[in-house]
Formats: sequence, C-alpha cells, structure tokens
Amino acid sequence: MAKKTDPVQARGRARTAVGSQSPGARRDAHRRLRTPRAAATAATLAIGLALTGCGAPASAPATTGEPAATDGPIVLTTFSVIADLVRQVAGDRAEVLSLTKPGVEIHGYEPTPSDLVRVHEADLVMDNGLGLERWFKRFVADVDVPHVVLSEGIEPIDIVSGEYSGRPNPHAWMSPTAAKVYVDNAVAALSDLSPEDAEYFAANGQAFKAELDELAERTAAELPDDGAALVTCEGAFSYLARDLGLQEHSLWPVNSDVEGTPQQIRSQIEFVKDNDVPAVFCESTVNDGAQQQVAAATGAELLGPLYVDSLSEQDGPVPDFLSLISHDLDVISAGLGDGPDPGDAE
Ligand SMILES: [Zn+2]
Repeated sequence: MAKKTDPVQARGRARTAVGSQSPGARRDAHRRLRTPRAAATAATLAIGLALTGCGAPASAPATTGEPAATDGPIVLTTFSVIADLVRQVAGDRAEVLSLTKPGVEIHGYEPTPSDLVRVHEADLVMDNGLGLERWFKRFVADVDVPHVVLSEGIEPIDIVSGEYSGRPNPHAWMSPTAAKVYVDNAVAALSDLSPEDAEYFAANGQAFKAELDELAERTAAELPDDGAALVTCEGAFSYLARDLGLQEHSLWPVNSDVEGTPQQIRSQIEFVKDNDVPAVFCESTVNDGAQQQVAAATGAELLGPLYVDSLSEQDGPVPDFLSLISHDLDVISAGLGDGPDPGDAE
C-alpha cells in the first residue's frame, strides 16, 4: 500500500520555507496578540483568569492531564468524541483539546469563564453543529478565531417527537458513514490552518476513513438484516440505525428534552412487546432507571452502556473515537445479532 510522503521531512521543509508562517510561530503570535487584541477581550480574560485562578503562563509544563503540547496550533473542540476524531487527523501537528471533560453531558452544557479563556487561546474552534451545542454559537460569536462546523454537508435526520420535533438530530457522528464527512471537514479546516501540513492531514484522514469503513462492514455482517429494532434511552442512534437498516425506538428523543416520563416508558414497553425485542440499551451519560423498568416489564435484556455523547476516561472502555463506535457495535450485535450468546455456551 502506498505510504504517505515522509511527514517529518515535508514538515521541516515547509517550516523552513514559510518561516514565521509556521503553526508554531503563528501560535506564538496568537499568544502575543491575546493581550492587545481588544481591551474588552483583555478585560474578559482577566475576569476569567481571576475566577479560575488559571494565571500560569501558557508555556508552563502541562499539569492538567491534557495531551502534551505540540508546537502546532491549538484546535479547541466542544466534546471528547469529536476531539478524538479531529486528533486522528491532526496527529502531532496540532494540539487538539476538548472544552468538556469525558463523562460530561454535552446537551445544554453551561460554559464557564475559563472556557472563554480557552476559546481565546485557540487558533481554530470546531463544534458538531446540528443544534447540539446551541450555547457554543453565542459563545464564539464575538471571538476572532476561525470556527468550523464538523457536520457541515451531512444529510440531517429530523427529530420526530418532543420539544425539538422537526429539528435535526445532532448525533451524526455515530454513523461511520457520516463520520467520514466529519473527517473530510477536519482535513480541510486543518489544511487551511496549516497549508504546509495538508498532505499529512489528508493521509491521516484517508487512513481513518478506511478504519471506519472496516468497522461498518464488520458490523453489517454481524447484525440481522430483517429490520430488527434498536431500543435505547436517548434517540441518539438515528444515523447509525439508518446505516445498519435497523428500526429505532427510544424513551426520549434527545437528552435536552424531558427524560423518562411514565408516558415514554409505556410507549417503549408497548414497542418492545409488539416487536419481540430481545434486548434494550441505555447510554453512559444518562440514568438507566426508566429503561430498567422497560426491561422488567417486557423480559428484554438491558445491555450497555452504549457510549454516544462522551468518551470514557483513558483507562475506560472507550478512550477514543474508533473504540467508541466499535464498542457500541459489539454491544448491539451481542443483543440483536448473530454474535455468540453466553447463555448458549456448552
Ligand atoms: Zn446525545
């Protein structure tokens, strides 16, 4: 298989050629600029710094558990799942950070003063879009940092019930097919930021998309093709269900809506009984109490958790994007597919 051009050499050449336009130099320039950028900005930053006690110089050794600094630009994303996707493309040429920590619920997140400081320190900000981070749009509106929406170009699937009915379902990253659009958008945005590294980003993007294709193919082979039903807590699997030819039924449409009402539970129980659904699932960032009631009332097995809106910590089961998708597909296959059933073991 054709290998990428030697990225290290290419990078060295490019950096030498463009001199002060290199990402490292640009980042330094950004840092110098941060103080004089605007009086209002400086004042806001001062408030943020005072509130957070985060006054260490930017070059201080990392002590926050975040990935080690590179000399590349800083790319700030909104949550851990898309942070890792972008990191797979950026490799060692940019420092990709997530505004929210693993385990934090991204729907309806309330940004803090220190988040604003981090936005000002970034060379590029990226969010999911499709209405997931409504707070983020307002948050970056007055900040002079390039902003890219990773889901741009996706064919949205609408939410069909509840308060957000008719709006796009934001969870497009859960489809390996749609995630490839995210990858392309990340490649384009990073290449705009560091044109000298464009070949490196393109090669990383190609490799990552090949892994997504492989995952999708493997799962299609393991799942029944008879329109089986994927029954979850949040309606976060519309894009994945479409890819896999599954029906989808959830307790609530999206985590920012009401969760686990008696009516939602009754509707889910009815669906599970009508469709002889063998297993139901719930996600890592929500309470599975309502789904436990569904399982108890129907005899369906409750499996999971599935991971959607957050990665796990590094030592958990889904520390990165591919392991999240792979984990979920394995759990779903075990519940609905032709995978080995532990109960049948002889
Ligand atoms: Zn969600």
